[in-house]
Amino acid sequence: MATSTRQTNAAAEKPEEMKKHRLLIGGNWAEPSTGKWFESMNPYTARPWALVPRSAKEDINRAVAAAKAAFHDPAWRGLTATARGHLLRKLADLIAADAERLGKIESTDNGKLIAEMAAQVRYIPQWFHYFGGLADKIEGRVIPIDKPGVFNFTREEPLGVVAAITPWNSPLLLATWKLAPALAAGNTVVWKPSEFSSVSALEFGELFERAGFPPGVVNIVTGFGNEVGEALVTHRDVAKVAFTGGDKTGEQVYAMAARGIKHVTLELGGKSANIVFDDAEVEEAVKGVVSGIFAATGQTCIAGSRALIHRPIYEQFVEKLLALAKTAKMGNPLETSTQVGPVTTQPQYQKVLDYIRIAKEEGAVCALGGGPAKRPECGDGWFVEPTIFTGVKPEMRIAQEEVFGPVLSIIPFEDEEEAIRIANDTMYGLAAGVWTTSIRRALTMSERLAAGTVWVNTYRAVSYMSPFGGYKRSGIGRESGIDAIREYLQTKSVWIDTVGKAPNPFVMR
Ligand code: NDP
Repeated sequence: MATSTRQTNAAAEKPEEMKKHRLLIGGNWAEPSTGKWFESMNPYTARPWALVPRSAKEDINRAVAAAKAAFHDPAWRGLTATARGHLLRKLADLIAADAERLGKIESTDNGKLIAEMAAQVRYIPQWFHYFGGLADKIEGRVIPIDKPGVFNFTREEPLGVVAAITPWNSPLLLATWKLAPALAAGNTVVWKPSEFSSVSALEFGELFERAGFPPGVVNIVTGFGNEVGEALVTHRDVAKVAFTGGDKTGEQVYAMAARGIKHVTLELGGKSANIVFDDAEVEEAVKGVVSGIFAATGQTCIAGSRALIHRPIYEQFVEKLLALAKTAKMGNPLETSTQVGPVTTQPQYQKVLDYIRIAKEEGAVCALGGGPAKRPECGDGWFVEPTIFTGVKPEMRIAQEEVFGPVLSIIPFEDEEEAIRIANDTMYGLAAGVWTTSIRRALTMSERLAAGTVWVNTYRAVSYMSPFGGYKRSGIGRESGIDAIREYLQTKSVWIDTVGKAPNPFVMR
């Protein structure tokens, strides 16, 4: 897609300067068994900037064996829950001290704004503090059992080896949502980051050793989804798969995990509706709709990719929205003033352009953008103009399918009933936004929207304290908040005879 007349962003990343990374297996930095590396691309320059190990099934086998050994090793299994929590909090402090460097790596590797990636990495320590604090509050129960002469209680135990599989859009944050509760609960982990953004994961790996985690508790194996991802999900010693990614991959992962009767959490895609009523604070709602789709270049699972606008304010709202969206500053994601960066991967860039073409073919009206960004400040990078379609019908593909790019569909509605019907009429159910000054409407809408998260008069807020996850095809299970730790535990019921008298061996007690 690069043309010779366009300005080049290529910085000083000459191939000979590219860092050759290694895998973290059993506490050692290892070369991949294949002896092969692949190039990680900088989406802003469209040039390679680092070398990532291309692992194979053999590396997964080594990593799972290390995680299994660590799970049973007294160095980890024998730690008190308080000591385990302390390790997580130590890790949190190390991440905080390294946040700027890690944020810059993420921004270089996935092209998302440094303002966003640095803020995410600065926030990550809170998950490790929170779940570190929860580690020694995992309690069983004493059951007032209905049978005399028996003491019955429950224990909450870790599952074993957890496979953490993450996408390219927020590599460290989404891994943290899995690692923090998994480790707090006493599991061990093999983490496979996306092939498109593995560098921050491999740099992050060093911090586990410095925090004092025993070798093998966290292992990091890079490579391609169909090679190492599948090998990891199907490995017989993996007890749980914690996956974030697209729903089609999620479906495959779910099916593979089912064959091994494994525990699963799936955090998948979305087609979230941002619903603006005529009683909303319009200026705030305009900002909310823009932040929902153009922040992170739309590459966020919670992107508010459908704006549902109440008919009485439709014309006025669209006008204000276009005016604000037009001002978005595109360019180098490492500059803090940039507002819209490139699309992270070349295939994703193509996919976004394909959806823009499909929307036009379906009859949607392109009111803004609608193609590659040919601005000088975008150079050779994979940039797509912030794009807004009006005249979108709810049944169009552009209103039903996840684009994962800076493309907004605007749909008018007449009343609450119609807003609910349109908002809920997709196969997804990850998030929704409601803009209204009516408390009755806020409560009614948050009850009736089929989504795991509903924001009222705000958008894209997440916290380590609040559960996050999808309805319908957006996923299974919850991350963050107290609910998340249950996803990494299993309950054991223990029965102790207190009378010492053998019951009738032929009758169930
Ligand atoms: P993918 O589903 O393509 O990939 C996700 C991860 O799965 C990657 O590490 C990928 O590896 C791996 N993978 C691919 N194929 C397999 C396989 N057969 N077996 C096991 N693992 C496999 O998603 P993207 O990376 O493209 O991320 C974008 C998607 O993630 C969007 O749909 C977005 O909505 C979703 N997402 C959901 C979030 C949520 O919390 N609900 C948050 C953020 C994103 P590789 O990269 O090597 O292909």
